[in-house]
Amino acid sequence: MASEQFCIECGARGEVFDNLCWSCYRDRNVLATVPEVIHLTLCGACGARLKGKSWHPQGNRPPEDEAVLESVTLHRDVSSSSLKVEILDPEELKSKVLVKGTVEIHGIRADVELDTELRIKMARCSVCSREAGNYFEAILQVRHSDDRGKRDMDRVRERVEDHVGNTRSRDRNVFISKTESVRGGLDFYLSSKSEGRSIAKELSLSYGVRFKESASLVGRRNGEDMYRNTFSVRLPPFRNWDLVSAEKGLFQIIRMDHNGWTVRDAISGERRTLSHRDTQSARVMCIKEDFVDAVVVSRGEGEVQLLHPSSFKTLSVKVAGDLDVDNESITVADVEGELIPVQPPDRG
Ligand SMILES: [Zn+2]
Ligand SMILES: [Zn+2]
Repeated sequence: MASEQFCIECGARGEVFDNLCWSCYRDRNVLATVPEVIHLTLCGACGARLKGKSWHPQGNRPPEDEAVLESVTLHRDVSSSSLKVEILDPEELKSKVLVKGTVEIHGIRADVELDTELRIKMARCSVCSREAGNYFEAILQVRHSDDRGKRDMDRVRERVEDHVGNTRSRDRNVFISKTESVRGGLDFYLSSKSEGRSIAKELSLSYGVRFKESASLVGRRNGEDMYRNTFSVRLPPFRNWDLVSAEKGLFQIIRMDHNGWTVRDAISGERRTLSHRDTQSARVMCIKEDFVDAVVVSRGEGEVQLLHPSSFKTLSVKVAGDLDVDNESITVADVEGELIPVQPPDRG
């Protein structure tokens, strides 16, 4: 047999909470409180918010709402809450604020209304002040060795900016302080060493070269030596598909990476690899941009008769086995007047 419940305050019978009827419970308990004044420090440049000693980038919710809601203390028995912040004069650095909504406690939803004052202080966050101060800890130097490399510089710049943009979406501390055009290339001043190294690695990998890294002592801070790192990448005169002559023959470059080159032997059509040492003495014979199509006049065993694209003379050339000779024309490299059939650059 269940004993009948009653309120020890007013004697009312029915459901009780901590021995009180709902009305007495509501009178005796504070369901939510907020400090009289809430202080908020914001970065005037990016909207980041100072919490304790660290800056937090702006999230989905306005930092003002966030700061107010975080200052609300709920009764320990509240199981859930739905509160809204209303800032009465949002343009001011000092404004009256209402917090309205409901909380659920012991299965009952109760209205809550609180008022407070929000005081905002504007400052500059650590990232924005570093950016404003042109802070950098690494320099990425990209140098070209010829006109083709010079023309590539716009693309290099785009790649560096994209790379940094990508990293920055995850880590606000990564940025480009400045980009300088210097004789022979570009200097990127970066806020992060690891970002500099990562870009140098990516660029050098795609150009088939190695990058250099050096560090110089720039001073001391908090009793520790401070180093600045320089990463240098020099664009080589070679690109994939170029026809080059190396010690071991005449080749078309298929792929360049840190280990060396994968090449196509221009005479036999076979694939092979060349080590970095093999490529040391390589010279460009014809860049891929200068490849031309020559009209096939007739075909023989392992050779074709071509119309020379500039002199219009007919001449016989040997064709490597991997090339397609059934078309009306084939792609050739002109090496000092001699035509050498090559694989067209856009084909694997
Ligand atoms: Zn009561
Ligand atoms: Zn900022």
